Amino acid sequence: MLFFEEKGLGADKTSPGNGATGHGGSGDRFSLAPAEPSLGESLYETLWDLTDTPVMVYTLAGEGRPGLVLEANQAACALLGFAPDELKGKHVKELVNSDLQLAGLHEKLSHESPAVGEVTLLAKDGTARLVELRCRLLVSRRSQRSVLAVAVPRPQDEALRMAMAVLDGALEAVAVLDQDGLIQTVNPTFSFITAFSGEEARGRGLEFLYDSSRNGPDCFKRIWADFVAQGRWSGEVWSRRKSGEIYPQWLNLTAVREVGSARYVALFQDLSESKRAEARLHYLSQYDVLTGLPNRTLFKDRLEQALDKARRQGKRLGLLCLDVDNFKTVNESLGHGVGDKILQGLATRLESCLGPADTVCRPGGDEFAIILGDVSGSEDAPAAARRAQQALAEPFLADGNELYVSVSMGLSLYPADGADAGTLLKNAEMAMYRAKEQGRGSFRMFTTNMNKRVNRRLKVENLLRKAIERKEFRVHYQPKVEMASGLVAGMEALVRWQRPEVGLVPPAEFVPLAEESGLIVPIGEWVLVKACHQAQKWRAEGHGDLKVSVNISARQLLWQHDVVMMVESALVGSGLPSEALELEMTESVVMHNVEGAIAAMLRLKEMGVSLAMDDFGIGYSSLNYLKRFPLDVLKIDRSFIRGLPGEPNDAAIVSGIISMAHDLDLAVVAEGVENLEQYRFLQRKGCREMQGHLFSPAVSAAEMTRILTMGVRLRTGEET
Ligand code: C2E
Ligand code: MG
Ligand code: MG
Repeated sequence: MLFFEEKGLGADKTSPGNGATGHGGSGDRFSLAPAEPSLGESLYETLWDLTDTPVMVYTLAGEGRPGLVLEANQAACALLGFAPDELKGKHVKELVNSDLQLAGLHEKLSHESPAVGEVTLLAKDGTARLVELRCRLLVSRRSQRSVLAVAVPRPQDEALRMAMAVLDGALEAVAVLDQDGLIQTVNPTFSFITAFSGEEARGRGLEFLYDSSRNGPDCFKRIWADFVAQGRWSGEVWSRRKSGEIYPQWLNLTAVREVGSARYVALFQDLSESKRAEARLHYLSQYDVLTGLPNRTLFKDRLEQALDKARRQGKRLGLLCLDVDNFKTVNESLGHGVGDKILQGLATRLESCLGPADTVCRPGGDEFAIILGDVSGSEDAPAAARRAQQALAEPFLADGNELYVSVSMGLSLYPADGADAGTLLKNAEMAMYRAKEQGRGSFRMFTTNMNKRVNRRLKVENLLRKAIERKEFRVHYQPKVEMASGLVAGMEALVRWQRPEVGLVPPAEFVPLAEESGLIVPIGEWVLVKACHQAQKWRAEGHGDLKVSVNISARQLLWQHDVVMMVESALVGSGLPSEALELEMTESVVMHNVEGAIAAMLRLKEMGVSLAMDDFGIGYSSLNYLKRFPLDVLKIDRSFIRGLPGEPNDAAIVSGIISMAHDLDLAVVAEGVENLEQYRFLQRKGCREMQGHLFSPAVSAAEMTRILTMGVRLRTGEET
């Protein structure tokens, strides 16, 4: 045990000694022997100065007295970043991270010497220095107890500092806790997130960061207990910033076990930003951004909820499906910006005209759906539909345009029209499609007849699909006769369906359905290929430069992007020259999308194919458009031919069409010519080509071959 004389300690903190500067002075404070320095004393002082090992002497705190540093060698000052002598007079408390660590060590001193323990010292700049502190008790002659402490920097300290350097750049907040769960050190992100500086956080337990009002009482205690039991803990907690602001945090607690000591690391992230992003994503997945209305997903949820409620309360429920009439035209002609404004306007008006029990949704595109929650009376749902229609009666203003918008609406009712969401929706949509067929702004309630009709259609559609697979289609040909020569100039290819056990089905019975379902695309292609091959065969057999006409429907012209390729490959595959092919399309086909039709027609013309306007006179017959279409032929619809020559209107129309066609440099074909009177009238008017039962109905290829060989005979009815 070392003994030394203690002088004037505690009275003057800044100058605890008797005026001596440094530890190497007179030696009276640590003299092992009074008066003259002995060899041992000199040796001791030299060692004190020269050793690299930090050494301090401080008074043992107790009985309200703080531990004051009496002496600290240069190595100690250097370790903690103080100038020589600057440590003297400091409170030991200021130099350690945790009082508890030191207290534990002092406790050991009573029965161990030296007492050794791990302590985190704090440098002048606030950074931590983990050391092994080896302490020995010194008792002065006045029984003043002091501690000689030798600090051996722990090799792990380096590693820890390196780790902290890495963590300094980490995006997560990191707090390193000592074995008592007190913060030893934190990284900059910790301060960034919590707004507590390292100084403010150091030495505190983590619980000061956790908010019991949101997390529940003793929340952190429970977390800590879990953590201690499991060795790990992670989860979402509400944390508090220095400003008091509460934010969601993802917290990870890990124990880092070392020899003889335990340390913990708390790692956390501020979840507010990702929560906001999550909330936004959640919003986007449920709501339509343009109108702010529930989207298809949320609509289905709401419908299910409304149905549940209606079921529980034994009430009725209405589902209105709305589709904007001709919205595509608005978009195409005025631009999507105007289209968007109209949809927003529609959403606002629909919402404003409905009751609190109703929900407006936008499942997609130009469709809206309204869940009518209060339809106790039988008139309630139709009344809501009328209100919706009235709300749209006023024009919409978009980009200086005044636009009138109407919607077609279909209604289905729970429980009458369906017990589940899927059926109700299907039936409301079916009613809406029926409303669409009736024209703009119509409203239809679902009826079971609609269902039957649709089922019938579905059945035929299925049969058509099978017919394609089983190759049940046939092509018949109807000759077109040139008046000047009386010869067959060409023929129109007309499809037939050879239905087993039913017989030959005319196109009127299946072509419209094939068009609706898109099946006209494969059927039409098959007809085209077949007709091209057959025509080329007749040409090769020496029947002259025949021209074959094939009907093309809207689906094919506008929606089948490769219609030009399809025609080209039919020509190449058959060897038929392009000028021997004519494509017939009706006005309704081209008026569907005038610009698109013109573009497709121009590409076909480029190939050398000629184009005919079929059934001319019964459609839109806009002369303006007629000028723009790259046409070669007008085929006068047979409804005008029927009344010739006695019916004056028909006669006038047909005469007009023929002379107009001549003016526009278009050839004219009259179709449906059945008798000689019609024939003569048309011939007088200068119609150069005719087609009709007077010459021949549509016949099989074999029969057509016979006609081509024998020549066409007029069927006046007198020949038998
Ligand atoms: P369309 O193109 O106007 O064909 C002329 C229709 O009038 C044919 O009816 C023809 O048989 C009939 N017809 C011709 N002359 C007379 C006559 O003197 N009196 C009467 N009463 N009828 C006559 P079909 O073959 O029943 O075809 C009906 C419609 O089906 C065609 O009208 C055409 O629009 C469509 N169609 C036929 N085949 C095809 C095809 O392959 N593709 C497409 N997309 N449509 C086709
Ligand atoms: Mg035709
Ligand atoms: Mg026709």
